Amino acid sequence: MNEPGVIRKLDENVVNRIAAGEIVQRPANALKELIENSLDAHATNIIITVKAGGLKYLQIQDNGTGIRSDSLDIVCERFTTSKLREYEDLQAINTYGFRGEALASISHIAHLTILTKTQHDKCAYKASYENGKLKGPVKACAGNNGTQITVEDLFFNVIARKKALRSPNEEYTHIMEVVGGYAIHNSHVGFHLKKFGENTDIKTPIKSSVVENVRIIHGNSIARELLEIELTDPTLKLSLHGYVTNVNYSHKKGTMLLFINHRLVDSLSIRKAVDSVYATYLPKNAHSFVYLSLELDPRNVDVNVHPTKHEVQFLYEEQIIDRIKTVIENKLLSCNSSRVMYTQA
Ligand code: ADP
Ligand code: MG
Repeated sequence: MNEPGVIRKLDENVVNRIAAGEIVQRPANALKELIENSLDAHATNIIITVKAGGLKYLQIQDNGTGIRSDSLDIVCERFTTSKLREYEDLQAINTYGFRGEALASISHIAHLTILTKTQHDKCAYKASYENGKLKGPVKACAGNNGTQITVEDLFFNVIARKKALRSPNEEYTHIMEVVGGYAIHNSHVGFHLKKFGENTDIKTPIKSSVVENVRIIHGNSIARELLEIELTDPTLKLSLHGYVTNVNYSHKKGTMLLFINHRLVDSLSIRKAVDSVYATYLPKNAHSFVYLSLELDPRNVDVNVHPTKHEVQFLYEEQIIDRIKTVIENKLLSCNSSRVMYTQA
């Protein structure tokens, strides 16, 4: 006979480790959170160093505000944040972070060390964390203004995940995508990505431009074919800025960099809509390069859908997608016809 099991409350660390595994599914997710923290801290330069696709070692150094030393004891606990106080603040949140879960999550599934210095501190402070808590005393040491976060042995205690992520190269590709995307979108910030002890893979200067960073990261064959698009629609509370390749350019693998309210997200419906516009102009199975920065009224976007915040739901999706299609379509048409006229002349 099967007997019913006894129901017990899970140990807090087990709960936290499970939650962490849902928020951080691969090194690139952790890195995205860390980059967003650096941007929230007004960094103008961000240096990322990676070993084994981030599984062994992932370090991010910024020149932002730093973390106050009197916050270091709780900074890695769950739901500790300097960015949100009241639930209502969510309506107008203008930082990436708000739920105070990223550092906590990472500290439950990796060895996390923070080295940080604010401009008011005479020296830097270093602290290591385990399961959200300080592992030992905070130590004073030398360091620059800003924050350096080192994540080692990610998923060391999540065996199934560790087994599933067997290819450091594949993980590194995801990391390149995240760094490349944020570098293009935040072209005023310098980004620097390299594998430990190897040459730099991405390096964008401070105060660069979107097009220049596309050139650095994706090459001139894309950068020289870019058309700028812009749109504002007060009724839909929408503004859009972006760059899309003209019909001269096509590639078997398309690229779509989509930012909604400055957060790198994916949207199958927007992707499909853009592809359908280009299908008229490009050969079969050929795709475009598209960078779109969409700003929507925060009240119309639900950033709370999923802890990874990758999926964003927004109101008026159908109308907004329609407007995006039209603006791209018109741009391609006008450029295409001017080229035809030019060749005919
Ligand atoms: P959230 O970003 O949602 O607040 P996190 O767990 O990502 O939660 O970070 C917790 C807090 O740690 C932040 O609110 C911020 O005060 C501080 N912090 C994290 N990373 C940095 C950084 N790179 N520079 C300055 N402060 C940081
Ligand atoms: Mg954060």
